[in-house]
Amino acid sequence: MRFSDIRHQEPALAAIAGAFAADRLPHGFIFCGPSGVGKALAARALANALLCDSPKRGSSHTAPEPCGQCDQCRLTEREAHPDLNWFRKPLERTELTIGVVARKEGRKDSPDGFTINESVQFKPMQARRRVTVIEGAELMNVEAANAFLKTFEEAPEGSYLVLLVTALDRLLPTIRSRGRLVRFRALPDEFVSELLARDHKLPATDAAVVARFAEGSMERAAELVRSDFAALRRKVLEALSRLDGPAALNLADEINDWASEQAKSEIQTDAKVEENTLRRLYLKRALALVASLMRDAALVRAGVPQTQLMNPDATALVEQLAARLSPQALHGATRQFVDWQTAVDRNAHNQLLMENACLELSRLAGTSPTR
Ligand SMILES: [Zn+2]
Repeated sequence: MRFSDIRHQEPALAAIAGAFAADRLPHGFIFCGPSGVGKALAARALANALLCDSPKRGSSHTAPEPCGQCDQCRLTEREAHPDLNWFRKPLERTELTIGVVARKEGRKDSPDGFTINESVQFKPMQARRRVTVIEGAELMNVEAANAFLKTFEEAPEGSYLVLLVTALDRLLPTIRSRGRLVRFRALPDEFVSELLARDHKLPATDAAVVARFAEGSMERAAELVRSDFAALRRKVLEALSRLDGPAALNLADEINDWASEQAKSEIQTDAKVEENTLRRLYLKRALALVASLMRDAALVRAGVPQTQLMNPDATALVEQLAARLSPQALHGATRQFVDWQTAVDRNAHNQLLMENACLELSRLAGTSPTR
């Protein structure tokens, strides 16, 4: 992996180049930003450049790139370099616990056979340096973070650390202040759409729609593809045109079933999140879709061009909402559906919540005279 392979992260790459250009390269980096925007790729590129025997010199704007030819580069490319260790929380846990960081009473929970602190302290085996990457470093609990702090502060010469973080405020301030912060940003919709069409073989129209709901994250985009969000969206849009009271309840059932099915099918491949959490996630996606339709209608009323809408392919429906409801009603409805997304996490009776949401939707769409 090379820095030049990473797209749409120019400020982050400039910050990394700046760190290399300074007299002394910092031992600890904190790559912070949304999930699925290239932080892990950049950590791989950084490790590759640090481990390479003859990296190409960088400049004040570009970090050194690996040569791609030496033994170190070959090992790194095969993800088999003994001086590059990658840690994350165990799948079945919700936190990164002390057992991954330090050996405690002879136990360790790290799958690699050693702990984070050991990885940092080891002497390089093949290269002249060592790199330790911690994915989701903000998931360290207090005990783990305290055990890690000294290692992060006093990494030995030639040992480098990269922490990948999505929520900087969850990182212990003492850790945060001791690393070089590099910020990554959300990817542009067009780029996400391009990757979806290329890597997930999505038809261009679906790719464009999914990209708009992915909020600049390839991870979220991939999750939307897996759960066939585009199909659910078609179903919701279609149902909206004939949504009386009973149909609204049917739609609520369909959305609930979809969320449960997706959660079930995913739990087989990915045990890290419990099924309920996933089901709630998918219900939130459905509510976000409705909120986006209300927001679009408000934008249409405000004269915003169609191309800037989240759902430019659903103009008839959006215009119908815009014609029917006042700007205040549309803003209120948008807020209501956003609030319902938050409520999903607190609510034990999501079936009922979704029924209320769909009935409200039919009322707003003007297809339900009876409520
Ligand atoms: Zn090399």
